[in-house]
Amino acid sequence: MPSLKNKIVFISGASSGIGMACARSFASEGATLILAARRKEKLEQLALELKETFNTGSRILSFDIQNNHEVKEAFNSLPEDWKSVDILINSAGLAKGMQKLQEGNPDDWDVMINTNIKGLLYLTREVLPYMVKRESGHIINLGSTAGHDVYPSGNVYCATKFAVNAISQSLRIDLLDKSIKVSSVDPGMVETEFSVVRFSGDVDRAKNVYRGVDPLTAEDVADAILYCATRPKHVNINEIILTPVAQAQSNFVVRKPV
Ligand code: NAP
Repeated sequence: MPSLKNKIVFISGASSGIGMACARSFASEGATLILAARRKEKLEQLALELKETFNTGSRILSFDIQNNHEVKEAFNSLPEDWKSVDILINSAGLAKGMQKLQEGNPDDWDVMINTNIKGLLYLTREVLPYMVKRESGHIINLGSTAGHDVYPSGNVYCATKFAVNAISQSLRIDLLDKSIKVSSVDPGMVETEFSVVRFSGDVDRAKNVYRGVDPLTAEDVADAILYCATRPKHVNINEIILTPVAQAQSNFVVRKPV
């Protein structure tokens, strides 16, 4: 398996969940990391843990991915040699609320669209020219089963993940002549901070999402991402869809009585 030793891996959403699990698994394989999110203290704790555990070299970038000016400023603050990112993992993302469209909050829609679609585009736009120049690199986007089939009251969140699906497919075509890989890793239910954020801190409601199901963990998803990142040079994994065994797609879940 190709080595990740000294590869520069940029992880958005590294302060929690899947992004944080990726930081740990890529660090354990010898990668050098750029850890990004808004919560600087979480990133600092993680960087310290990875330094102590794996002697990982890392840089922290704290910015709001919804704001293109902040994204540009953060990326440009990197020393020139850190801008040659080998692997970009676009994990920053969220759901806000879960209502029928006619009852939905347009402010929540803005946050989801600005983070999941526009934020992913802003960051990718900064990183890609350096990959194109070197004709080498790998973009790994966090899609979702919600980007393949919709579920009740999932309207705008599902739309953002359908958009990520389209962006991944389209990027792959745009980059065909540049030897740059594009993968989409699309999980079903993963227990992270995701549902707590979706329901604005309502922990009981968040727990209920996973009631009677053995959900995926962030580490399960990081494992699939690591698999994509470690295939031979000529192999691109286009897409991985992974779900708990009790979930067939967004809408089909079997729950054990609890
Ligand atoms: P999580 O634990 O809530 O982590 C989300 C990450 O995104 C956090 O690090 C958060 O950092 C970052 N983030 C959110 N808004 C941001 C902003 N405006 N600017 C910068 N960073 C921001 O959720 P997760 O489950 O790991 O989700 C990671 C990705 O997987 C998301 O794209 C999500 O849509 C996707 N996904 C999740 C599931 C699931 O069931 N959990 C299923 C399918 C797909 P800060 O708050 O510190 O900024």
